[in-house]
Amino acid sequence: MANDRLLNKEVLRYFPKVELHRHLEGTYPLDKLYEIAKRNGLSVPSTLTAFREENQFPANGQPDFLLFLSKFKNDWYRSLGDIAEITYHAVKTFRQDAIFYMELRFNPEHYAVFNNFNRAEVSKVVIHSALQAAVEDNLRLKFLITLNRGKQTEDDLIAMYHQIKGVSPEICGYDLAGDETNYPPHEFQRLFNLIHQDGFKATIHAGEVSPAQQIWDAIRLLNAARIGHGTSAIQDRELQAYLKDKNILLEQCLTSNRQTGSWKDTSTHPFGKLFHEGVPVTLNSDDPHIQNTDLTDDYLLAIRYFDLNLDDLIRINLTAIRGSFLSEKEKAALESDYQAAVSAFRKRFKL
Ligand SMILES: [Zn+2]
Repeated sequence: MANDRLLNKEVLRYFPKVELHRHLEGTYPLDKLYEIAKRNGLSVPSTLTAFREENQFPANGQPDFLLFLSKFKNDWYRSLGDIAEITYHAVKTFRQDAIFYMELRFNPEHYAVFNNFNRAEVSKVVIHSALQAAVEDNLRLKFLITLNRGKQTEDDLIAMYHQIKGVSPEICGYDLAGDETNYPPHEFQRLFNLIHQDGFKATIHAGEVSPAQQIWDAIRLLNAARIGHGTSAIQDRELQAYLKDKNILLEQCLTSNRQTGSWKDTSTHPFGKLFHEGVPVTLNSDDPHIQNTDLTDDYLLAIRYFDLNLDDLIRINLTAIRGSFLSEKEKAALESDYQAAVSAFRKRFKL
């Protein structure tokens, strides 16, 4: 039975959460972004409300993948200071969901391309500012570098990878995002071979709007340790058994999947069935400012539709810790701290 008290957002908000799939580019406080846009002389609507409407997926809008993608713009920034500022304020919003640990992903190209900033410099600025905010709020962050297929060729991605790979020990892995239909996994094998040779792990967006075969390809050709979305895994029993056996987890995102059309009816989203059958799945927000939601909203949906109780939520978060890209020693320490945070939550809300 779902726990009714957990359906109270002002309680659930404080449940400690581990998140493995969130894009910095999709998690801005829009008031700050509006300030920066105005300061930089961009053409913006005259009110914050209108600015929000322009930069968010329409409330109750029909699923539309291209409309969703059109909300990511890369011309906001005019200086490294702008990037530092928006990153800092983005991470300051994580407190509202009681983020305990996050692997925050960002694409250096997104931040650099408009002004042709140095990709390594941009990455350092993002990581430095994000950590500054994280330390203030006592939350733990690591970073994933997003590589966007379709925007850059494999050779360009390899060149960027060489530029940025040494910039920070806080980078714990690499992500392949973007148009999965037209740029399938086999086109990026050289890039991911290099990444694995350097000892990094990879998470690959796959099976979001493509068949389960793409998930197999992401695992077999790119050695994916995790899969972004992977909704189409629901169509393939053999794949589900494989994910379970190898502990390859699916980073699932309920609101995002509805808006992009990956899975239109959240009440039948594969998350519920996969979770109850023991396939490793986690809950994530993906791009909360574009979706006009926060991570707690995704938890609310999961509790409502998939009959989750507090123990289930804890299990999902422990799955996330075990599937994180930390070392075994770091995972063990994080797990014990997480259990302590959960105990404090239980005590505070008498759950
Ligand atoms: Zn994503």
